[in-house]
Amino acid sequence: MTSLSAVPAYAAPAPKAPLERTTIARRAVGPNDILIDIKYAGICHSDIHQAREGWGEATFPMVPGHEIAGVVSEVGSAVSRYAVGDHVGVGCFVDSCRECEYCRRGLEQFCENGTTATYNGFDKNGDPTYGGYSTALVVDENYAVRIPAALGLDVAAPLLCAGITTYSPLRHWKAGPGKKVAVVGLGGLGHMAVRFAHELGAEVTVLSQSLRKKDDGLRLGADHYYATSDPATFTELRSTFDLILSTVSSPLPMDAYLRLLTVDGAFVNVGAPEEPNSLNMFSLISGRRTLAGSPIGGIAETQEMLDFCAEHGFGAEIELISAEQINEAYERVIASDVRYRFVIDTSTI
Ligand code: NAP
Ligand code: ZN
Ligand code: ZN
Repeated sequence: MTSLSAVPAYAAPAPKAPLERTTIARRAVGPNDILIDIKYAGICHSDIHQAREGWGEATFPMVPGHEIAGVVSEVGSAVSRYAVGDHVGVGCFVDSCRECEYCRRGLEQFCENGTTATYNGFDKNGDPTYGGYSTALVVDENYAVRIPAALGLDVAAPLLCAGITTYSPLRHWKAGPGKKVAVVGLGGLGHMAVRFAHELGAEVTVLSQSLRKKDDGLRLGADHYYATSDPATFTELRSTFDLILSTVSSPLPMDAYLRLLTVDGAFVNVGAPEEPNSLNMFSLISGRRTLAGSPIGGIAETQEMLDFCAEHGFGAEIELISAEQINEAYERVIASDVRYRFVIDTSTI
């Protein structure tokens, strides 16, 4: 097949500019590639950080989207894992070096030579990458995952980032029976974190700015729900948690949160604020506490997470939108007004 030259997409033409309809090119399907007919793309807060250059200089035009779910519509001559008609997903990266220690261990997110980001990156030929707010994607079969039949493609799309980004640290820090886990922020990542931590057997507390989403939090599997706007929360919960997973997109008053950890507890950031945080080291020293971070997850663990969701019968909670609503959805995400992931129906692009 020759390259696809006029694939409909939604792009930010410049930093902070509204996204608008455009077309992009996709490379020809190579021997190891699959062509994906994209059906749904989730809106991650990282799309907004990048489209507005909140994390630093970015590449424009930008087609965001790294929560991609679709159907294989063509396979290269050497493809062995997928066939036309298979349901597949693509997350935050579309390639890596495949040779370094981390790639060989299935921890591609730590590739020593850098992963190729699904968008706002450059592929091995030096061409800019474009993400999931489009109708088709060509990707090496080794960087796609299988979406189990039990999961709808719409509710599966957000699992490709929000799902794996929360599942991976919960597994790494051993959320499970006997562990008290707090999830800070009930947004796209947070609502998945609550579900996973609950299904893994932990006692789960949501720390949200207010109580307005309390019913949802409890329904998703939380045992307790507190408002961080109430100072009493921080006295009542002092030295309580083994693990705190922060999904918050802005800096937090770290000392107040660190004091909620028990001795040897860990505060793990998956939220990626645009501004630095500061803390008093005594907040760590006093309880031999750990402050950590975690990025997305590798291909194998992403597949494990999808299979876990299928087995336990849940995907993301979504608000399905048309492409015309993307800019409005961005504003609502920033206002913490999403229940709990916007997903674009790409047939409207
Ligand atoms: P989101 O849907 O906007 O959720 C963030 C939640 O944080 C909000 O719903 C809100 O929950 C809470 N929050 C927002 N502003 C706050 C503030 N000023 N103080 C306290 N709480 C606040 O975003 P998301 O898509 O889940 O992404 C969350 C963050 O994770 C973003 O920074 C994103 O870039 C990052 N991220 C990181 C990775 C990674 O690999 N580490 C992967 C994906 C995303 P409440 O209303 O409940 O308070
Ligand atoms: Zn993301
Ligand atoms: Zn590598």
